[in-house]
Amino acid sequence: MDELVSLCKRRGFVFQSNEIYGGMQGLYDYGPLGVELKNNLKSAWWSSMVYDRDDVEGLDASILSKPSVLKYSGHEDTFTDPLVDCKKCKGRWRADHIKDKACPGCGSADLTEPRPFNLMFKTSVGPVDDGKSFAYLRPETAQQIFVNFKNVLDSTSKSMPFGIAQIGKAFRNEVTPRNFIFRTREFEQMELEFFVERGTDEKWHDYWVKKRLDWWCEQGIPENRLKLFDVPKEDLSHYSKKTVDIMYAFPHGEEELEGIANRSDFDLGSHTKNQSDFEIHANVSENKESTAKLAVQNSNDKSWEVPYVIEPSAGLDRGFLAVLNEAYKTESLGGDKERLVLSLAPHLSPVKAAIIPLKKNNEGLVALAKKIKQSLQSLRLGRVVLENTGNIGKNYRRHDEIGTPVCITVDFDSLANETATIRDRDSMEQKTVSIDSLENMLTKTVSK
Ligand code: ATP
Repeated sequence: MDELVSLCKRRGFVFQSNEIYGGMQGLYDYGPLGVELKNNLKSAWWSSMVYDRDDVEGLDASILSKPSVLKYSGHEDTFTDPLVDCKKCKGRWRADHIKDKACPGCGSADLTEPRPFNLMFKTSVGPVDDGKSFAYLRPETAQQIFVNFKNVLDSTSKSMPFGIAQIGKAFRNEVTPRNFIFRTREFEQMELEFFVERGTDEKWHDYWVKKRLDWWCEQGIPENRLKLFDVPKEDLSHYSKKTVDIMYAFPHGEEELEGIANRSDFDLGSHTKNQSDFEIHANVSENKESTAKLAVQNSNDKSWEVPYVIEPSAGLDRGFLAVLNEAYKTESLGGDKERLVLSLAPHLSPVKAAIIPLKKNNEGLVALAKKIKQSLQSLRLGRVVLENTGNIGKNYRRHDEIGTPVCITVDFDSLANETATIRDRDSMEQKTVSIDSLENMLTKTVSK
């Protein structure tokens, strides 16, 4: 983990947030390369969940949530971690992190009984902070999907089964944020709520577990580094009928990368008015504030039904850490020489190609390099950069470290013969090709 953290800072993937004021625990900023990798991961998820399918629509809802939403969703009552205070060192710990009844900080056994601690952040809304006008920062993106269920259904031609996908920030006041970007207080989730008919939910749950496992493999994580974990009944969230977690071997240990939950009809049922009009299986509390019936009508017998929902919920930051961890390699170059290479799947690489003129500031070479850069950039495959430093070896090393799949060198032969040298990141092989063929080559490389 230390090596990854150091690479992230050195090359501009991830910085500690508010660093010049001493930093802030549990918050990180994504730098110039980090934002590219993150966007590429989001776009791979969106393509697979929305564009490649005919049964999913997208949504981008607000982060500030009305307290009623999180009251009826059950988060006000249940979204808590039991906490234990150490009377000796004043440390505060999650009860499930205490081993052998001793404080993990100082070892003292003088601990309080566990007390619930709500993980949701609150903020006041409007000009007067009277404690009554407040909103929550959403602890998951899912609730805004549920409360928009009818809007999406009424504004599209979707019928069941169908899904609503959303990528966005979520906030949790984690007691012990740790392990770099693995557990933070502000993070991004990629969530799909897939609505299905009651009775078909188990089949769809199995389908999404398999689908999501395959997707992580396509992002460069070998299947043997992922495991499925059937969450025991007593550990299930209040809304869940069944949850399977996709676990990944993170540098600090095996932990959850994504959870796939069968949320039954709990959420739509909870946000529905006049619940007694419907047969709702989950145990939901009576809702006197909602104005909507979040149900669908059966086209055959015209009866109304609150759909079940399957939720694949992935952490973008945890995904970022996992793909980086898999890609990070040091390779021996013979003797005591070695290179650090980030073998990212090319569609995730922050920079797709680097164009390097042999000589710094040489007018003819730089003009040709710029022309190539523009033509490759116009393909809209992602970022292409021009490296006008004249040091080819140093540029190769830098681009190996940040995972650029190809470097393209322009020399005096290029001016004479319209050729360029391409160097492959993984094999380090170099070959001379015609400049005309570069667009095709990059398109193929990035869609590999
Ligand atoms: P954990 O048990 O690790 O606290 P969780 O079961 O509470 O996670 P979910 O509520 O299922 O997590 O959220 C879905 C996904 O959101 C998780 O699989 C994870 O990838 C991500 N996630 C949750 N909490 C955090 C966090 N504090 N920091 C970063 N990502 C998070």
